[in-house]
Amino acid sequence: MSFLSDAHAVCEELDQYRSQSSDRTKPVVKQIPMRTLIDDLSLGTFAIHGGLRGGKLTEFVRTYLDSTSRLYHPGNLAHQVAVPHHAGALAALMGGFTNNPVSIYEMGPAAASIEFFVVNWLVEKVGWRPSPYPGEAIDSEAYAGGVLTHGGSLANLTALIAARSRIAPDVWQRGAPRDLALLAPAESHYSIARAAGIMGLGQSDLYQLEADEHGVVIPDKISHVLQKVREDGKRPLAVVANGCSTAMGLYDPLREIGRLCNAYGIWFHIDGAHGAAALLSNRYRGLMDGVELADSLTWDAHKLMRTPGLCTAALFRDVGTLDKAFFQDASYLFHDKVQPGFDFIHRTVECTKSALGLRFFSVLGALGEQGLAAYVDRQFDLARQAYELIGGARDFECAGPPQSNILCFRVSGCDELQLRVRDKLIAHGDFHLSAVMLQSRRFLRMVFGNPETVLGDVARLIDEIRNISSE
Ligand SMILES: *Cc1c(COP(=O)(O)O)cnc(C)c1O
Repeated sequence: MSFLSDAHAVCEELDQYRSQSSDRTKPVVKQIPMRTLIDDLSLGTFAIHGGLRGGKLTEFVRTYLDSTSRLYHPGNLAHQVAVPHHAGALAALMGGFTNNPVSIYEMGPAAASIEFFVVNWLVEKVGWRPSPYPGEAIDSEAYAGGVLTHGGSLANLTALIAARSRIAPDVWQRGAPRDLALLAPAESHYSIARAAGIMGLGQSDLYQLEADEHGVVIPDKISHVLQKVREDGKRPLAVVANGCSTAMGLYDPLREIGRLCNAYGIWFHIDGAHGAAALLSNRYRGLMDGVELADSLTWDAHKLMRTPGLCTAALFRDVGTLDKAFFQDASYLFHDKVQPGFDFIHRTVECTKSALGLRFFSVLGALGEQGLAAYVDRQFDLARQAYELIGGARDFECAGPPQSNILCFRVSGCDELQLRVRDKLIAHGDFHLSAVMLQSRRFLRMVFGNPETVLGDVARLIDEIRNISSE
């Protein structure tokens, strides 16, 4: 009884929250001081006395929602995180309610089956060979496959660990070799360098791939870097490329980089956390051209695929490389057993793991692959239209033409003005942008993730920025 009535009350609040965000009656983000918020939410009182249900729950939810960053607001342009489809949010509720971890088949058969299906579905979008289901006949050719992780950072780490186990198969017995080097563009996400650090590589083991003025890798220059690695007495663990980069949303030339890596037998990892969803689109798939040459690919569903966080796929062209990534004895889990399903536990850093596949699948199941592709097309198109609009204004400057749904620009004036504009926009409550440094200059950054944002919003943004900068 209390579940249904509490759930009903929470859902009513959420529904109203979404419409008040969509129609802009509430600010896109409101930041009141943390101490005040903790008091307003009565955290201390509830922690002692309990009772967070019924009318008090409704009150709590209202206060909570009032201090959120409203992703459903059309002026939400700041960050890459998905504006979730409600099907994915309901799936998160279902996953939480049933709480079936996916790692061991018997702990969550439905969740594990959906994860297996989702991974194979994504693998087919890459153009790789999906894995047979347990019990199906196998042959000696490599199959592609993977695992879902709690986020792209963990997927990047997982991919690099698999790369290490391939180049140093005895790593789990003897420890990490000291002669490994990682090659990545300066524009790679910080989780790449962090993964390298976690694996015992130092700053001096990270080699930057040369890039153009927008941070896009120049493939012809990779051989130079490889030679430097060799001269330093090191072995390349992997080459990492962006599909696409975090700051500007640009794609590295994946086919050329992939060919080179394949020729040298070097592990090729594509960080497609943000941009791999271009693979769903007939019109933008070309941006990921050459993806099939990768050994591993990171692909977030909680960025461009309308899925609530977190849900990432770590995909491998030869899933055998992932199966050997964590060679560790845990016989209580890994004992050979006859079972109808599949255990994912040997493929992940995590032990207990949420039903991540259910979140993404519910969105896919609601929209269908064409619906999801149409969403990607729409958001990528919108970035291009915004580029035309802003690039055509004499008092604005774009960092460059967009390739994905990210556009960086600045209003004429100093770096400090850009930050002041951002702060004022947030204070007014109509627009939420992020800011980045590109070539030592400050830019404002828009990520078009909201399917309700239209070009008219960008026109209004321009007007509002003009008003602020003339103050
Ligand atoms: C967002 C992002 C990541 C990190 O993914 P999380 O899911 O936030 O951990 C990694 N790489 C790129 C290119 C990204 O844009």
